[in-house]
Amino acid sequence: MEDDWSGRWNHVKKFLERSGPFAHPDFEPSPETLLFMRNVCKILVIGAGGLGCELLKDLALMGFRNLDVIDLDTIDLSNLNRQFLFRVKDIGRPKAEVAAEFINTRIPGCNVIPHYAKIQDYDESFYREFHIIVCGLDSIVARRWINGMLIGMLKYENEELDQSSVIPMVDGGTEGFKGNTRVILPGITACIECTLDLYPPQINFPLCTIAHTPRLPEHCIEFVRVLLWPKEKPFGDGVAIDGDDPHHLKWIFEKSNERANQYNITGVSYRLTQGVVKRIIPAVASTNAVIAAACATEVFKIATSCYLPLSNYMNFNDTEGIYTYAFEAEKKENCMACSSIPQTFAFSETDKLKDIIDYLIESPAYQMKSPGITTSVNGKNKTLYIQTVKSIEEKTRENLKKTLKELELVDGQELYVADPTTPNSLTFRLNLGSKME
Ligand SMILES: [Zn+2]
Repeated sequence: MEDDWSGRWNHVKKFLERSGPFAHPDFEPSPETLLFMRNVCKILVIGAGGLGCELLKDLALMGFRNLDVIDLDTIDLSNLNRQFLFRVKDIGRPKAEVAAEFINTRIPGCNVIPHYAKIQDYDESFYREFHIIVCGLDSIVARRWINGMLIGMLKYENEELDQSSVIPMVDGGTEGFKGNTRVILPGITACIECTLDLYPPQINFPLCTIAHTPRLPEHCIEFVRVLLWPKEKPFGDGVAIDGDDPHHLKWIFEKSNERANQYNITGVSYRLTQGVVKRIIPAVASTNAVIAAACATEVFKIATSCYLPLSNYMNFNDTEGIYTYAFEAEKKENCMACSSIPQTFAFSETDKLKDIIDYLIESPAYQMKSPGITTSVNGKNKTLYIQTVKSIEEKTRENLKKTLKELELVDGQELYVADPTTPNSLTFRLNLGSKME
């Protein structure tokens, strides 16, 4: 350990080389553990943004040296106030690459490997290389995807879970002054899908309020965005709002101001307009720091087994003072990702295919984004509807209006659903005639 500064390991060694009243019951103090952390343990950090920068710094300073980081984004000026591994000269470059260079230069012996890519670009063989995966993501879809990937990688022998196939996932999330940290042992504890209803729904104002009784500056901006823009077509027919186009924002801001004046509402600003149009929740550096630190601590506990990990969900809120509590989120018996109970659709044969699609999108249990449905008839694959590929969408659009009977779907039929929220397609069994309310 000659390449490190003197006294560097004093604190870490206090945890790893002696026992204590709070230590893990099976923990055996040993100098080997630090060697494992430094030389063997391989960790993947997903996301190199607000949480990702903190996570990389925390893990690298703790002593983990084999880190990979994956991020699909490039650096923007607006990131620099909190994504402290980036400088003005780095604007436009991939976050993963710059973050890795910074850590590797600054922390001796550390080897961060960057991946400027989407998590969906990699398959099982890539994810299997890691001992632990930590997520600092701002996207629920991406979280659900990696969750599905890790569950798909589980191996069972005689219905017994093979523990060596479990890759623990530590997930951090922040939104303004709120955040959470969770530890997921795929196949063992509650997964992302088990607790899907913990994510706050996207805030949408009721249309009647926007149209008739605005009270907030946000209502005025939403009025312009939702109702006035499609009516006045300020930049031509069919031109959608581009939240990054200053001309679009200026138009929306001015019209929102006019509307606010009519109703004596104050507080419409260019900045608020931008926030509402782009659905921006301000990122708070200190919240990121707290959540990333909690995640890194959990990684340390799992990697070294020196303490019991969080079981399994920690909430944090520093809106007023500092509030935190932990609880055990329960595994959902019929979770579509991690349970072995088959999913069923209860519909009647006069329902239309579109009803199933809408159900998958709107149901709190599924919250899918653009489900595509295929089935198998006499051993042959039949595409019922796929939205993501334009040519197939056009060919299958007619099916949306057809009833399940017209599509010749029968009771007990298996339907396969693919969606961006999951790497594996899901099988649903059609239960006709006992439609749920
Ligand atoms: Zn689950």
